[in-house]
Amino acid sequence: MPDRYRTILLFGAPGSGKGTQGRILGTIPGFYHSATGDIFRTLDLQSEIGRKYWEYASRGELVPDEFTIKLWKQFIKGVELINQFHPETELLVLDGLPRNVTQARLLQDTIEVVAIIYLRAERAKMVERLRRRALKENRIDDASDVVINKRMEVFGRETRPVLDLYPPEVVHRIDATMSQIRVLSEIIRILVPLKEAIDGPDDADVAASVASDPGVPASSGV
Ligand code: ADP
Repeated sequence: MPDRYRTILLFGAPGSGKGTQGRILGTIPGFYHSATGDIFRTLDLQSEIGRKYWEYASRGELVPDEFTIKLWKQFIKGVELINQFHPETELLVLDGLPRNVTQARLLQDTIEVVAIIYLRAERAKMVERLRRRALKENRIDDASDVVINKRMEVFGRETRPVLDLYPPEVVHRIDATMSQIRVLSEIIRILVPLKEAIDGPDDADVAASVASDPGVPASSGV
């Protein structure tokens, strides 16, 4: 059992496509996707914590750090306890966290960052995507250009410096304006060797021997 969660950070400004790619990665065996924005959006807006989220997100600001980290740590422990997330065998795909240097420090004892996928695009392109998302997903924080601009500014000022905390060799820059499937394929190309190195040779051997063993019945439905 590793002492910290082995983690891939999905990094990029709002509208860069982190959520879309993260959700796809989360469906691949051996990966667990966790997005702080999604956790916040499940909060009951009548509750105190729900109101706190609303207060900040509707202005395009970050929810306070201690509160965010505490909530996320509770969440991840919870999914581990109910057997949804298996840190011994799974890589954590973290989306929207850490979002500033303080959060990165508060997470140091909890996550081991093995790679950072940095999705990059021109600001105009990302703003255009956010405007479309506002219509489709009814997101309070995409509702106005003032809020969108504020979030872009927060990314540049607070989130972007997080990259400088990690060794350059773990940072992988990807052009987020390519088609979704091409962005995905670039991400997978980066993740395959990392995942295999963590699994060790045994995993592939077991899969290969099961496939070639005539004594093992073919799995149902294939
Ligand atoms: P996007 O990537 O488009 O900004 P998210 O769903 O990641 O969307 O975040 C939506 C909002 O939730 C943010 O604008 C912020 O108010 C809040 N939020 C999400 N993650 C964090 C975080 N790590 N720290 C503080 N606030 C956060």
